[in-house]
Amino acid sequence: MSKIRLLSPRLANQIAAGEVVERPASVIKELLENSLDAGAQQLQIDIEQGGVKLMRVRDDGNGIEKDDLPLALSRHATSKIYHLDDLEAVASLGFRGEALASISSVSRLTLTSNTGESAAWQAKCEGRDMETELAPAAHPQGTSVEVRDLFFNTPARRKFLRTEKTEYNRIEDIVKGLALSRFDVGFHLRHNSRLIHSFRKAEQTLEKERRVAQICGAGFMDNAVAIDIERTGLRLWGWVALPSFSRSQADLQYFYVNGRAIRDRLVSHAVRQAYQDVLYHGRHPAFVLYLELDPANVDVNVHPTKHEVRFRDGRVVHDFLYRSLHHALADVRPEHQLAKSE
Ligand code: ADP
Ligand code: MG
Repeated sequence: MSKIRLLSPRLANQIAAGEVVERPASVIKELLENSLDAGAQQLQIDIEQGGVKLMRVRDDGNGIEKDDLPLALSRHATSKIYHLDDLEAVASLGFRGEALASISSVSRLTLTSNTGESAAWQAKCEGRDMETELAPAAHPQGTSVEVRDLFFNTPARRKFLRTEKTEYNRIEDIVKGLALSRFDVGFHLRHNSRLIHSFRKAEQTLEKERRVAQICGAGFMDNAVAIDIERTGLRLWGWVALPSFSRSQADLQYFYVNGRAIRDRLVSHAVRQAYQDVLYHGRHPAFVLYLELDPANVDVNVHPTKHEVRFRDGRVVHDFLYRSLHHALADVRPEHQLAKSE
């Protein structure tokens, strides 16, 4: 008898889930990104017991057609790219078509949606063979995804979860990171039925700065300079803290490339270099920065979590970042030099 067998869909999804769904915060990241991709304006996030018991994201986006509900939960099913060419210039946060399939394979997932054209429908998924049950439901235009009992069927993964507080804090970090990427969207976060954060839609500069202060603290905003520099197809804007607001940890560093939060060695290096002669050794700068460039010049499909990017011309990007930040900090040299506080 043949020894090679195809994995069942559920097992294949559970294996894929290992890459995408590490902890409750990774679920929240995927759900919020889906809502943003669906054009949502308001996001309600409900968490119970650090997300292990329940995570619910409710949005007012485009919604999902009844017939698409089972597809949304299937692996490699996406509405965001259809051709390889689309990947060249992908504008959405998602595109791999894996998140909902992965999450539903390690939790009890309910997807309820209304496209605004007819009644709402609900799909539940915790079946052994990834079968989905459809039923009529009540829901205004938009989508709710409810994820219960994360890792209930994968005890090995559940063991790696930390305390409720730690898992909740990571969720909060994800929400803050996304809230800084989309000032035009309202984010409302509840934990154990208590409203913890309400970031209202921010259009004017003052409203945006208020959101940044809510997330990074008033101290950051009081010590930050706003920058907005554009050169040959590259734009860098945001807020950089003066050296007088340096940190003992790299905990206030937000960097977005075309709206996507990323960690990148080239970027870190350019920033570090710009701050080099104004910061004490071992101190870390604080910043909220947005780099915008032609999507064709940056590859986001490097890693399943999409935290990494690859620039077509890394040197040019590095140079531009270094020069822009160096320039922004130039006004504070040398009198703020090596200033130290927290
Ligand atoms: P991806 O985001 O990579 O396409 P997902 O598994 O996260 O893959 O989602 C699968 C599909 O389900 C999406 O392409 C989208 O069409 C649909 N979808 C998921 N969440 C939402 C939502 N909140 N609103 C509208 N459509 C959604
Ligand atoms: Mg997605």
